[in-house]
Amino acid sequence: MIIGGGPAGYTAALYGARAGLTVGLIEKLAPGGQMGKTDMVDNYPGFPDGINGFELAMNMKAGAERFGARTISAQVTGLELSGDVKTLRTPKEDYKARTVILATGAQPRELGIPNERELRGRGVSYCATCDGMFYKGKTVAVVGGGNTAVADALYLSRICEKIYLIHRRDKLRAPQVQQQNLEKAGNVEFIWNSVVKELRFEQRLTGLTVGHKETGGLRELECAGVFIAVGQVPETELFKDQVELDSSGYVVAGEDCRTSIPGVFAAGDLRAKPLRQIVTAASDGAVAATAAQEFLDM
Ligand code: NAP
Repeated sequence: MIIGGGPAGYTAALYGARAGLTVGLIEKLAPGGQMGKTDMVDNYPGFPDGINGFELAMNMKAGAERFGARTISAQVTGLELSGDVKTLRTPKEDYKARTVILATGAQPRELGIPNERELRGRGVSYCATCDGMFYKGKTVAVVGGGNTAVADALYLSRICEKIYLIHRRDKLRAPQVQQQNLEKAGNVEFIWNSVVKELRFEQRLTGLTVGHKETGGLRELECAGVFIAVGQVPETELFKDQVELDSSGYVVAGEDCRTSIPGVFAAGDLRAKPLRQIVTAASDGAVAATAAQEFLDM
């Protein structure tokens, strides 16, 4: 059984099914995970013109199902991972398997400022490709300096009138070429060395107060939406008491994807590792399924 239908999960399903295993993959939402919410994927090899993330997700699903992997649309609510036979509980049914691949990925990190949760869906968003169109022709802000923030700002620059990119340092974490793309867009204003202090709102978000980290000066920005892209937290809550996690909550598993429990493997963004990309998630999926097959053969 595989939990999670992102690139790690569906690659594991493909390799498992092609190895002749009986494969069930449980996914609570749409296939693709974070990839499925990405407008354009330019760095997954084999697509010279890029590919829409949801399309890539559907392709991965179809590829695994062609070899007999079965997708189960459900939310895993409980797990028993020790013992020779593992149990995955969902509201309707329990599933039993001799090996389990954990591929639940990661979720966007919150800023942790007042009213952030209350304003979710009323001006606060964590997904530009999901919600960007709601802000057509308006001014929005993006918070963060990594690849997600830059991709979001670029995507929004084609839809919105103006974008503020607020970053806590004076240098992006994303590659330099990405900054040049944003500069070329012409409607992106960089707000460096700054953090969001306050979300201002009436019924919906109306603006932000940002504070300069060095001068302490405050600036008010009017905007209809803010897209928060400040990294991720792993989705490991469900098995945190069973599988060994590191101090940030990522599953401790080496390049062989073996966790602290025999027969349980971790693949993709939830694993402690240096680079979280679609291609490394897919790679983990292949390794984990092969390790699962070897485990079953022992
Ligand atoms: P990330 O690379 O961890 O970047 C997070 C950004 O948010 C950093 O710039 C960080 O600032 C900032 N940040 C973190 N906590 C903050 C806080 N509390 N307040 C304000 N700013 C905060 O996360 P990501 O951009 O989501 O990317 C995650 C992974 O996915 C990365 O490996 C990334 O390369 C990959 N990814 C790739 C693509 C692509 O290539 N197409 C697209 C999206 C994501 P500092 O820079 O100061 O630390």
